Amino acid sequence: MQDFSFYSPEQKMNHPLYDLKGVEVGFKRDDLIHPFISGNKWRKLKYNLKKAQETNKSHLVTFGGAWSNHILATACAGATFGYSTEAFIRGEIVDNPVLTLCQLFGMKLHFVSREQYRDKHRLFADLPDTDNAYFIDEGGWGIEATKGCREIITELSVTYSHIFCAAGTGTTAAGIAMALSENNLSSKLHVIPVLKDGSFIADEMQKLCAPMGQTVLHTDYHFGGYAKTKSELIDFIKDFVAKTGILIEPTYTGKALYALHDLIKQDTFQSGERILFVHTGGLTGLLGMLDRFKM
Ligand SMILES: *Cc1c(COP(=O)(O)O)cnc(C)c1O
Repeated sequence: MQDFSFYSPEQKMNHPLYDLKGVEVGFKRDDLIHPFISGNKWRKLKYNLKKAQETNKSHLVTFGGAWSNHILATACAGATFGYSTEAFIRGEIVDNPVLTLCQLFGMKLHFVSREQYRDKHRLFADLPDTDNAYFIDEGGWGIEATKGCREIITELSVTYSHIFCAAGTGTTAAGIAMALSENNLSSKLHVIPVLKDGSFIADEMQKLCAPMGQTVLHTDYHFGGYAKTKSELIDFIKDFVAKTGILIEPTYTGKALYALHDLIKQDTFQSGERILFVHTGGLTGLLGMLDRFKM
């Protein structure tokens, strides 16, 4: 088996707001795992790759939108660990830097209509050769994925009263909730859905058998919906990046960190409390949004 030991540092973060309110904020830097096999997408792929290897599959097939961090991570991980890769992209044929990188990593792309895209198992079954093919769901969703996400918690060197993460499918949050309960940690998990009407994330977490007793959802930080943004969020990101040198992006990490800062400002936490922000990576998402940041 290849060496899967990517490293995600745990760093204490300096920011005037944290000093002002006397809270200690640590960042789990999953963005530093790899530039393209980024963040939680690596966490979700890791045990899928192990399973593909155990079941003698040499070809990875997956699904996503045209800017998907998961598609890019799968393309690069395939090239790195010796799998061929193929992906079904939802919607009309487009060309963007993420898809160009995917092809550079050797991934074969198919563009399919939204209607065809709905039946992923059919698209998979209709491939000419499925004997060697391993199915990975959109965004890496599934039980294998939660195994990797648990490691976000088991790698930590100190304990935190509160843990913050963004949610798109809730898989990462599910893995974290499982690890907290399995390791008898009493940290409260704060989940920030990046889509509108985000309370469905609780159902998604439960489908993956995550215990929900320590989880709170903050559903008011979606900024209009998935991949939608507002000038307030863009200004927040600019200010944070300039103050800390740490990049965040508007689709996931920007919204989750905005929520954390907003709650700190509202004195939700006591002075001296330790809070962890899980930086889930995904910085190539910025490539599609750079014009929002022009001065
Ligand atoms: C995909 C993604 C998420 C969402 O993770 P889920 O496990 O689907 O909830 C969060 N942050 C980043 C940066 C992502 O790319």
